[in-house]
Amino acid sequence: MRLIFLGPPGAGKGTQARILERRFGARQISTGDILRENRARGTALGKEAEGYMKRGELVPDALIIAMIERELDSSRDGFIMDGFPRTVAQAEAFDALLARKQWPLDAVVLFDADRKTLVDRLSSRWTNPRNGRTYNTFSNPPRVAGVDDDDGGALVQREDDKPETVSKRLDVYDEQTKPLVAYYRTTGKLAEIDALQSVDDVAHQLAHAIGLEHAH
Ligand code: AMP
Repeated sequence: MRLIFLGPPGAGKGTQARILERRFGARQISTGDILRENRARGTALGKEAEGYMKRGELVPDALIIAMIERELDSSRDGFIMDGFPRTVAQAEAFDALLARKQWPLDAVVLFDADRKTLVDRLSSRWTNPRNGRTYNTFSNPPRVAGVDDDDGGALVQREDDKPETVSKRLDVYDEQTKPLVAYYRTTGKLAEIDALQSVDDVAHQLAHAIGLEHAH
């Protein structure tokens, strides 16, 4: 399974990637999670990325592409790209990497949602900083408020889920990432799903869109 999940922050890409990972053993590659991990460990990459992430801007393409190249080394059995590519330059570099490995994509899934829903979702999102799992206070709450269902540790609100930064991130998506919809449409591999539904309904649509509806 080689998939790209495309869509604005808060559309549910990470949540659905985790579901596919659990059900089918696919490997989620979240560039945001990898960058946050690098920041937590204080690596050179983490230090370089920090300012951009705090401001809700994109980290420079060269850093991201080098990071993905390293990740692909351990992706022989497939991947779900969650939050990558985010610019046309990243998409072109990724195409070249995949062509070299002769790893064609199965599908690019576009998670469609309106801005108001995204702002609401991001401002009520709680994250497990240890593994990136997210919850939503209203639509997908943890069993105990502020505590992860699995590891029992504290949930946090991401610093870039604050209202000022959320608005910036959505603008950045419109300006720099949305052009990828047209880019991938020409490949005939783009599948669109309505990300406004519940987690279960989106999972259902997604399975159908990528031809897995009979697999569970
Ligand atoms: P995310 O968790 O996907 O919302 O990503 C959090 C932040 O990490 C973004 O706002 C960017 O600053 C940075 N980031 C993640 N993925 C990328 C990417 N593919 N290209 C550039 N910046 C990225």
